[in-house]
Amino acid sequence: MPTYNAPVEDMMFLFNKLRNNKNYNDIEKYKEVSSELVKNILEEAAKINQNIILPLAKSGDENPTILENGIVRTPPGYKEAYSKYIEDGWTSLSCDLKYGGQGMPKTVSIFFDEMLSSASLSFKLYSELSIGAYNCISHHATEEIKDKYLPKIVEGKWSGTMCLTEPICGTDLGLLKTKAQKQSDGTYKLTGQKIFITSGDHDLTENIIHLVIARATDSPSGTKGISLFLVPKFTVNNDGSIGARNGVSTGSIENKMGIKGSATCVLNFDDAVGYMIGPKNRGLNSMFTMMNLERIIVGIQGLGISEIAYQNSLSYAKERKQGKTNNSKVTNGADYIIGHADIRKSLLNMKSIIEGERALCFWLSQQTEVSLNHYDEKIRLEAANIVSLMTPVVKTMFSDMGMEITSEAMQVHGGYGYTKDQGIEQLYRDNRITSIYEGTNSVQAADLVFRKLVNKNGDIINKYLELIKNDCNIQNEKTKPFVKELNYHIDILSNFTTWIKEKIKNSKDDASAACNDYLKALGFVAIAHAWMKVLEVSFKDYDNNKSFYEDKIQTANFYFKRVLPRAEGHFKTAITGSDYIMNFKFN
Ligand SMILES: Cc1cc2nc3c(=O)[nH]c(=O)nc-3n(C[C@H](O)[C@H](O)[C@H](O)COP(=O)(O)OP(=O)(O)OC[C@H]3O[C@@H](n4cnc5c(N)ncnc54)[C@H](O)[C@@H]3O)c2cc1C
Repeated sequence: MPTYNAPVEDMMFLFNKLRNNKNYNDIEKYKEVSSELVKNILEEAAKINQNIILPLAKSGDENPTILENGIVRTPPGYKEAYSKYIEDGWTSLSCDLKYGGQGMPKTVSIFFDEMLSSASLSFKLYSELSIGAYNCISHHATEEIKDKYLPKIVEGKWSGTMCLTEPICGTDLGLLKTKAQKQSDGTYKLTGQKIFITSGDHDLTENIIHLVIARATDSPSGTKGISLFLVPKFTVNNDGSIGARNGVSTGSIENKMGIKGSATCVLNFDDAVGYMIGPKNRGLNSMFTMMNLERIIVGIQGLGISEIAYQNSLSYAKERKQGKTNNSKVTNGADYIIGHADIRKSLLNMKSIIEGERALCFWLSQQTEVSLNHYDEKIRLEAANIVSLMTPVVKTMFSDMGMEITSEAMQVHGGYGYTKDQGIEQLYRDNRITSIYEGTNSVQAADLVFRKLVNKNGDIINKYLELIKNDCNIQNEKTKPFVKELNYHIDILSNFTTWIKEKIKNSKDDASAACNDYLKALGFVAIAHAWMKVLEVSFKDYDNNKSFYEDKIQTANFYFKRVLPRAEGHFKTAITGSDYIMNFKFN
C-alpha cells in the first residue's frame, strides 16, 4: 500500500509567504484566519488522512461498493471513518457560519481537498458532491430551503449529488429526457433515469439530497428548457425531520476501472417529489455554480493523486538497486536507481509540476475568494473573469498531468508498479476518471477557446497575460534568467492567442483541432507564473531557510528548462491547421 505524508510544510509556505495579495487582504472576514490556526487545521487534517482515510483506498479497491437487496453498501471501514470524519467537522470546513460551518477560506480548504484526494479519492467523493450541493443551494435556493437543508449537509448527516447525465445525454445536456410535472401545491413530480451518479446512493448518511436537471412539461426543448430541482431521497417534514421515502431508487451500480469504493449509480425517478431551485428554464446556469467550483476541485484531485504517486516513487527510487550509474563506485552489485539520470529526470518532472500546480491553485483560490467576497463590485468581476478563464485550465491540466505522473510513477516502479504489490497501478486507474467527469477535458478545452477568451466583459486572456507580465517585473538579478524564459513563452502564448482568435472567426475546425494544445500552452505558462511567485520569495528570503529555498530554486530551474518549453511544441503543432485531419478518409 502506498504511504503518504501530507506536504504541510509546502502548504504552510504558500499560506505564509504567498498570501500577501492586496485584494485578498481586503476581505474582512478572513483577517482573523491566522497562520497558527491554519497550521493546526492542516496538522489535524494530515493525521486523519494519513491514519484513517489512506487505508480505505486499498479496502475500497478490493471490496467495491455493492448493491444488496436495494441497499448500496460502502466498502469495509467507510462507515466508521465517515462517522469520525463528520464528528471532527471536516464537511463544514469552508461552509458559512450561519449554517454551522467553520467559515474557512478556499486558501485553506484546497489544501484539505488535496490531502483527501491523495489519501482516497473514492472516499472523498462521498462528501465532495455535498459541498457542491451546498454551494448550489446557498447561491440559488429560497431562504426556506436553505434553512431546511443546509445545516444537515454542513454537518455531514445528509449528503448531496449532482444528477445531469442520462443514457443518451452526456456532454450534450440539451438532449435530456427527465420530465418535471408541476403540482397544484407548487412542487414538481420528476420522472426519468439518471446514470453515472456519484454517491447516488450509499449507507453513510441519513438522507441524500439530489440536485437534478429536468425539463418542465411546458418548457421548450434544448438547453433553454432545463430547470434545476432539489429531490431528497427521503422527503423532509416541516420540522426538518425525515419523512417518507421519495420516488427515487437505485437501478444498479457501475462496475468501474477505478474509484471502486465510490458508488456510481443508475437512479430511477418515478414521480419523485422535487422543488425547483432558481428560475425556471435557467437550471444550467444554477447548476454551473456547482460545476465551476467542482471543476477546480477535480483538478485538485489530479494534484493530490500526483503527490502520493511522487512520494512513493521517490522512496522506491531510493531503495531499489539496479544497474550501475555512469559514475558508479560500486564494485559488487548495483546502485540505487535514483542515481540514474532518466529516473532523476522523471522524479523532477513530477515534483516540478506538482509544486507549481499547488502554487497556482493557491493563487487561484485567492482569486476565487476575491470574486465572491470583495466589497468592490469591479474587483469582484475582474477576479471572476480570471477564475472563469482558469477553471477549465486547472481541471484539464491537473487531471492530464495526473495521468502523466501516475504513469511515470508506474515506470519508476517497473514491474512492481504494474502489478498490484505497491498500489501504484491503482493510482493510475483512480486518476483516469478525472479527465472524463465534470465535462471531459476536450470539452473543457473547447469551452476555454470558444467561450472564455473573450466575453462581454472584454478581452480576458490579454488582461491575464498583462497581469502575469506585470508580476514578472521583479527587481532581483537572480530571477532574470527565469523572467526571460517566461517572457519568451508569454510571447508565444500571445501569438497563439491571436492565431486562435482569428481561426475562431474564419476556420472553426482549425480552432477546434487546436483547443487542447492551446489549453496546455496556457497551463504550462500559468504554472510558470506561479513558480515565479515562489522564486521571488525564495531568493528574497533565502538566508532564513536555505535548504527549503534551494530545493525550490532547483525544482523551478528544472521546470523552466524541461517543462515550460512544452508550451512552444503545442503552439507549433496546433498551427499546422486541420485540413489534413478533417479530409482524412477513415475506412
Ligand atoms: C465514475 C463516473 C462518475 C460520474 N459522476 C457523475 C455525476 O455525479 N453526475 C453526473 O451527472 N454525471 C456523472 N458522470 C458522467 C460524466 O460527467 C460523463 O461521462 C461525461 O460528462 C461525458 O459524457 P459521456 O460519457 O456521455 O460522453 P460523450 O458526451 O458521449 O462524449 C464521448 C466523447 O466525445 C467527445 N465529445 C462530446 N461532445 C463533444 C464536442 N461537442 N466537441 C468535442 N468533443 C466532444 C467527448 O470529449 C468524449 O471524448 C460520471 C461518469 C463516471 C464514469
